[in-house]
Amino acid sequence: MTDSKNISVVLQSVNNIKLEERPIPRPGPRQVLLRMDSVGICGSDVHYWTHGAIGDFVVRQPMVLGHESAGVVTEVGAEVDNLRPGDRVAVEPGIPCRFCDLCKSGRYNLCPDVKFLATPPVDGSLSGWHVHDADFCFRLPDHVSLEEGALLEPLSVGVHACRRAGVTLGSRVLICGAGPIGLVNLLTARAMGADTVILTDINPHRLTVAKEMGADATLIATGNAESLVSQVCALFNGRRPDIVIECTGAEASVGLSVRACRSGGCVVLVGLGKPEIVLPIVQASVREVDIRGVFRYANCYPDALSLVAQGRVNIKPLITHRFPLSKSVDAFETAKTGAGNAIKMSAEKNIAVV
Ligand code: NAD
Ligand code: ZN
Repeated sequence: MTDSKNISVVLQSVNNIKLEERPIPRPGPRQVLLRMDSVGICGSDVHYWTHGAIGDFVVRQPMVLGHESAGVVTEVGAEVDNLRPGDRVAVEPGIPCRFCDLCKSGRYNLCPDVKFLATPPVDGSLSGWHVHDADFCFRLPDHVSLEEGALLEPLSVGVHACRRAGVTLGSRVLICGAGPIGLVNLLTARAMGADTVILTDINPHRLTVAKEMGADATLIATGNAESLVSQVCALFNGRRPDIVIECTGAEASVGLSVRACRSGGCVVLVGLGKPEIVLPIVQASVREVDIRGVFRYANCYPDALSLVAQGRVNIKPLITHRFPLSKSVDAFETAKTGAGNAIKMSAEKNIAVV
């Protein structure tokens, strides 16, 4: 593979990924051309591959996958003054319109016209070269790797969720689900001063990883709802957690989140599952449990980068497998099957570590 080629990982149709050579894109006046280095594979990439759709977003034409990415600036548009060729940057993947009320009020993640990489019909960044708006690229200090830069994407989900949940000094936090998103919430909650962080999952290996990454305790979330609430209370020394960060989307887990949260506490819903579920909603009413939505992130990349750059979180253990871009199909297979207890894959252009 030479630099003059733009090999791209293209989802052609359900279960059909092909490597395709595409033209190297040209940067507009406020854009930069990036030589891509590290691209993480997210559950959503795998879901588009296996199902061809997430909710209303349906893949109707071939689409480049990948949105957790970092690369090196090789060319800047005429009006770009914040970046130069050679800068190593993390790519924030959602470009909002910048003009609507939501954008202007700072909640640009909710912009109805946001263009998010690898969300149909927008192409992603799992390719040799990628053009991106310069103000959505974040320069990495020398001691932060491009791989860590790619991981700022899921970490930003953690930063946004913990903010929405009000995590602060002394918070006692239950995180349901120990996938990559549960784990970034663990790291962020700790860094934001949480006193106790406990994770649930139904997969014991994921809970072992959660322990290794700093969870105070873990719980296998099987069994009936009442018994799970008692087990959660016991782990929090007889009190319910102040905050529950739901990172599974599973109906039983969303129910547990509301049941286990202390009166007056807050549940944030990060996990995306069935569009409609049965909830113990009267519990939420009579115990004033706030339930808040979480969608991606806004204004979180700078703080996610600061957490990594200052050594306040270590996100490197999230990556368990590395593949060269040419082996991207293997990366997707590994992500799907969880072979070797995979957590997160990184497909890299320049480093061929398999
Ligand atoms: P993942 O599938 O790797 O992790 C989910 C974990 O939940 C798994 O380890 C699974 O074993 C566990 N689980 C399943 N049922 C459970 C139950 N009943 N109780 C406890 N644990 C259970 O996914 P991920 O990449 O970590 O993402 C987590 C969720 O967050 C997904 O639903 C994803 O779509 C969603 N997500 C939402 C946003 C957002 O902006 N709201 C952003 C990214 C991801
Ligand atoms: Zn907007």
